Amino acid sequence: MKFDTVIIGGGAAGLLCAIAAKRKHPTMKIAVLEKNDRVGKKLLSTGNGRCNLTNTAVSADKYAGSFQKQSARVLERVNTEKLLQYFENLGLLTSADSEGRVYPLCRQAAVVLDVLRFNCEVAGVEIYCKESIKSVKAQKNFVIVTANGEFVCDKLVIATGSKASPKLGGSAAGADMLRNFGHRVLPFAPALCPVKVQSNILKSLKGLRAGGAVSLLRNGNAIKRERGEVQFNEDSLSGICVFNLSLQTKRGDEIAVDLLPDISEKELYNILIKNKELFSQLTIDNLLTGILQKRMAQAVLKTAEIKDFSRLCRDLSDEELCAVAHSAKDMRFAVTENDGFDRAQACMGGVLGTEIDETTMQSRVRKNLYVCGEAVDLCGECGGFNLHFAFASGIIAGESL
Ligand SMILES: Cc1cc2nc3c(=O)[nH]c(=O)nc-3n(C[C@H](O)[C@H](O)[C@H](O)COP(=O)(O)OP(=O)(O)OC[C@H]3O[C@@H](n4cnc5c(N)ncnc54)[C@H](O)[C@@H]3O)c2cc1C
Repeated sequence: MKFDTVIIGGGAAGLLCAIAAKRKHPTMKIAVLEKNDRVGKKLLSTGNGRCNLTNTAVSADKYAGSFQKQSARVLERVNTEKLLQYFENLGLLTSADSEGRVYPLCRQAAVVLDVLRFNCEVAGVEIYCKESIKSVKAQKNFVIVTANGEFVCDKLVIATGSKASPKLGGSAAGADMLRNFGHRVLPFAPALCPVKVQSNILKSLKGLRAGGAVSLLRNGNAIKRERGEVQFNEDSLSGICVFNLSLQTKRGDEIAVDLLPDISEKELYNILIKNKELFSQLTIDNLLTGILQKRMAQAVLKTAEIKDFSRLCRDLSDEELCAVAHSAKDMRFAVTENDGFDRAQACMGGVLGTEIDETTMQSRVRKNLYVCGEAVDLCGECGGFNLHFAFASGIIAGESL
């Protein structure tokens, strides 16, 4: 079958790329090839089924990867306002929550997918599902051989996403195709996921959630700080603030948790002096009553190396109170690795940013080859930034075809 353009990957980037191309060139013959039995499977799971599709604070500093600098032009050309206008023109109404996260008005990811699917259908985009690709070659045209047949096209778009969440379609197939075309591709690594850590108190905290601030420390220096709820698991830390750190974590880093970010260490020390008096007749494990959850308080005392919990609060020395205040403000966890692809919402890695022209999303290595979405080495924080880039880069690729 002969097409003007074939888009491999029917996810956020691929579908919007097809729609944008058709809006610009209505007669263009376009096929989308999807390996799943339906398009947009990952999209349905986004934002806990509500699809956090963009953010009112989109900017390049919310992203990491080799395309980060170039992404500024993409995000400027299709900023939040323009993307929302684009969606409105496609029939999708949206609204933002108090933290700037934008969702469909009805808070249902299925509605976003329906809007994309229906717009593809109306525009005459041909969608082929359950297409397992055997080979992609560039001769005079591009020739894509699948289990079901052969697709020939003048222009090819790789919109296959990343390896994150294989159950929803995540794969490295696009990376392999791009390598075969001569591109340098950085291996995918899980991101926006729990971070595995080591600490002798972690087991005792299993299942706890606590509001606080987390800092990623490399050689003792903080390289990223986030606030939010931290979840303590058997061998990992999670929660949105930890997910955001996972964009940069490396083995050997530390995560410092500040359980009381609104109180200085000195202020906490003074509160503990007061508590020592208040609870003087009670055992030491009651020192942090009214400040932290019981299990967390015990972990803080343990980290501060407070011995013999059968002692009374009145027996605590000044040095011990200082150590407790410090431990609550700076609880350290040694990073081993990020959790696996199954639990990752996105990936670092993908085609090297400098090999893609950010004004068209066309390859600088091979003419008429385009790449958009997570197949590019760019990963955003939680909050709608990854879908924003997938949609924005899809629109730019589609309009440039
Ligand atoms: C659980 C979860 C929740 C998330 N929530 C959010 C959120 O709320 N907000 C946000 O911004 N981001 C979120 N993300 C991230 C976001 O979903 C992705 O960044 C985004 O979908 C990337 O779009 P894409 O089109 O590049 O890739 P995808 O949406 O993954 O689409 C790629 C498509 O290509 C297909 N494909 C892959 N290989 C082949 C092949 N060889 N042949 C044919 N087809 C192929 C896949 O099956 C898939 O359908 C979430 C991710 C997960 C896993």
